[in-house]
Amino acid sequence: MAGPAHADHGESSERSSVATPVVCRSIGELRTVVNAERMAGRRIGFVPTMGALHEGHTSLIRIANEMTDTVVVSIFVNPTQFGPTEDFDTYPRQLDTDLEACRNSGAQIVFTPTKEQIYPGTSFFSMTIQHLADHLCGASRPGFFNGVVQVVNKLFNIVQPDLAVFGQKDYQQFRILERMAEEFHQPVQMVMAPIVRANDGLALSSRNAYLSREQRRIAPGLYRSLRFIQQHLLDGVSVPARLIGHQKEELRGKGFEIDYLGVYSAQTMQPLERISDEELLLAGAVKLGDTRLIDNMLVKPSG
Ligand code: AMP
Repeated sequence: MAGPAHADHGESSERSSVATPVVCRSIGELRTVVNAERMAGRRIGFVPTMGALHEGHTSLIRIANEMTDTVVVSIFVNPTQFGPTEDFDTYPRQLDTDLEACRNSGAQIVFTPTKEQIYPGTSFFSMTIQHLADHLCGASRPGFFNGVVQVVNKLFNIVQPDLAVFGQKDYQQFRILERMAEEFHQPVQMVMAPIVRANDGLALSSRNAYLSREQRRIAPGLYRSLRFIQQHLLDGVSVPARLIGHQKEELRGKGFEIDYLGVYSAQTMQPLERISDEELLLAGAVKLGDTRLIDNMLVKPSG
C-alpha cells in the first residue's frame, strides 16, 4: 500500500486526481502546494481538525470535496485552546490512521504543522470575543474560544480557502468563527455540517475513546435528554426551566456531572427563559468521569 506522499514541488497539476494526499509539514510547503492548485483554477476547501479522525470528521471532508475541487485537511492539536487542567497531553494522536482516513474520504492535501510553525516565539496579539462566548462552552472553558479563534485565523491566513467546513457538533464554535470571518472580511464561505452519531445517538467525538465500557453504555443519555426536551419544545412548552431541571436530575441520577444544559438563542448564544419563534439551540455539556461530552440540537419552534 502506498504511503502518504510528501510535498515536493512541480507536480501539483495532477494532484486532484491522485488518491494519496500530499502531506505538508511546513507553512512554506503548504503554500506552494495550495498556490499551484489555485493557479490551476481549482477552488480550495478546508477542514481544520485536531486529528483522531472519525466519521464526523470524514463527513466534513466529503462535503468539502463535493463543494470544491481540492480539499486541505489540517491536523493540529492546538495548545492554546486547552486549559491548564485539560487533556492537551493525553489528547489522542494517531497520524497514520488519520492519513488513511483523509485518503479514503478524498482529501488531496493534509497539513500537519508543528507547534513551532504555528506559534513561533512570543505572541503579542489576541482577539477578544464579545457576547458570543459568554455562555455554554465559553463560560465553562475560559480562554477556549480565544485559542480556537487564534488558530483558525492563522490557518485561514495560511491556507486561504474558498470554503471551510465545520461540524454542528461544536455549534458555538461555528457561530463564533462564522462571525469572525464576516467581521474580518475573510473571503471564505463557512459551511456547517450535521452531527454524525453512533447508532445509539451518541455524537461521535475523538474523546469518546476515553470512555470505559460502562461509561460508553451511559453516554447516549445526553442525546436522549436533548431529544426529550426538543420534543416538548416542539409540542409547545414555552418556559423550559422545569423541563431542563428535570432532565438535569435524570442525568445526574445516571452518573453524569452537568456542566450546562439549556436553551439558547441560535444567533446570539444567550440563554432563553421563554421560547419565542426564533431558532433555538438546545445544548448540553456533561462529564462522565474525566471525559467531557457535548451535544446539541437546533429547534425551530412552530410558533
Ligand atoms: P476537532 O478535531 O474535535 O477539533 O473537530 C474538527 C471538526 O470536526 C469540527 O468542525 C467539529 O465540529 C467537527 N466534528 C467533530 N465531531 C463531529 C461529529 N460527530 N459530527 C460532525 N462534525 C464533527
